[in-house]
Amino acid sequence: MIKVHSYETFATQDGPGIRLVIFLQGCMFRCMYCHNPDTIPLMGGKEYSAEDILDLAERQKEYFGMKGGITFSGGEPLLQAKELLPILKLLKGKGFNTCLDTNGYFLSDEVKECLKYTDYVLPDIKQMNPEKHLQLTGKENQPPIDFVKYLDAEKKNYWLRYVVVPGYTDGEEDVKKLWTFIQTLPNFQRVELLPYHNLGTSKWEEMGRPYPLKGLAACTREEVDAVKHILSEYTDKIFIRG
Ligand code: SF4
Repeated sequence: MIKVHSYETFATQDGPGIRLVIFLQGCMFRCMYCHNPDTIPLMGGKEYSAEDILDLAERQKEYFGMKGGITFSGGEPLLQAKELLPILKLLKGKGFNTCLDTNGYFLSDEVKECLKYTDYVLPDIKQMNPEKHLQLTGKENQPPIDFVKYLDAEKKNYWLRYVVVPGYTDGEEDVKKLWTFIQTLPNFQRVELLPYHNLGTSKWEEMGRPYPLKGLAACTREEVDAVKHILSEYTDKIFIRG
């Protein structure tokens, strides 16, 4: 059984085509801007069997078309890698396209097995600067960097994701560090820029916790374009999401 926080149908922002996105419960990061803080606690969520997930997928199948499928997000889906593995196997066995939206903190043998049954991976790079990453997420950034290197070495289909948080991740030096890292990845396909928004504020307050970025305005089009502009000196494989 796997712990599911919620799911969304007809999603178009989390992987190729039209997708069923399943948000799994639990995350080891504490991102200051998390817009789904209720997915962070390990406790909670509703238990689903592999057959329950397959049933959800079957009911959406006609909308997936050639490209779409199922994305596991969270929370951090690979926190439940052991439970996720048989589900990914089942879905792949039925011909579904599978995708993982992950912070890339874990690279255990179970995670590597999960990746064998995953068509697309959306790994986050939250910050290339180690101290700023720690401040932003509560965790060090070397594991996610190593995770992306692994995906690249294994020639997996992966799309990097970078949340543009004004004042936290959009500094020129930080963005250039991101590109320096990308240059080391021979199988790099694209980077997706996700403009920060503050829609999760009320969820933090409902949970009785102060929102760490209270008062920070949502990222404007100009701010995300400024990051794109820095990266576009080096690549045109940049997509703005959201
Ligand atoms: S990795 Fe995602 S789910 Fe986890 S705290 Fe960060 S934004 Fe929230």
